[in-house]
Amino acid sequence: MDEIRIRYLRALGVTPWVPRAAPAPAAAPDTAPDTAPDTAPDTAQDTAPTGSESAPLEERPPAADDAAIPLMDWAELRETVAACRRCELHEGRTQAVFGVGHAQADWLVIGEAPGAEEDRQGEPFVGRAGQLLDAMLAALGLDRSTGAYIANVLKCRPPGNRDPRPEEAARCAPFLDRQIALLQPRLILAVGRIAAQRLLATDAPLGRLRGRVHHYGPDRVPVVVTYHPAYLLRRPSEKGKVWRDLLYAQRQLRGDA
Ligand code: SF4
Repeated sequence: MDEIRIRYLRALGVTPWVPRAAPAPAAAPDTAPDTAPDTAPDTAQDTAPTGSESAPLEERPPAADDAAIPLMDWAELRETVAACRRCELHEGRTQAVFGVGHAQADWLVIGEAPGAEEDRQGEPFVGRAGQLLDAMLAALGLDRSTGAYIANVLKCRPPGNRDPRPEEAARCAPFLDRQIALLQPRLILAVGRIAAQRLLATDAPLGRLRGRVHHYGPDRVPVVVTYHPAYLLRRPSEKGKVWRDLLYAQRQLRGDA
């Protein structure tokens, strides 16, 4: 195990095991589903009115054409997201947060939605949770500019960092779908309950979605689920589980799981 990896594992709170005489073997496959309930929410509870009280579609601001989005290239898509008014979240944003990373990355990391700092900086996963995500990626030999692309289910910040409403996620979905189609990742890492449930179209708790491979879309891109870094900041004792998830994902991508 090289020094860089050891350093990042320590940043993750994982104590690396280094043998005296031989290289450390890969951890045993973490194939058993984790049946522990996902009791801790990834974000604060939403106490605002439900999406059913939103304005009907015909009263909404002009929206990007659903039929046009699947034909867009990266530049067109980015421009369209920046100007998007498909849901109410455009009203409170500083800017839309499109995504960051290499356009041919093997790994696509998908989170929930921009927070306050992301809204200010225009980049997903900045601040303390972002630093922890960077440490997670670095432990795998990845970073934002090379092997990984990072995006969110929602491109605009929900007020008060509440959970995305189903209607907002549905309105924003074509953008993420187009990002996936353009990127053609070899593996999607869904971080947090919201991203996992949106991608897998389920309401199962995150704990039950970990530890196995799911598939997304017509290309059946492998999806591995793990905890959101923001959750890890609140529950550092779970960092070991995330590291096992990451190794599991890496083995999937290498085809030796
Ligand atoms: S969250 Fe998505 S659908 Fe809503 S305004 Fe922002 S980019 Fe458009």
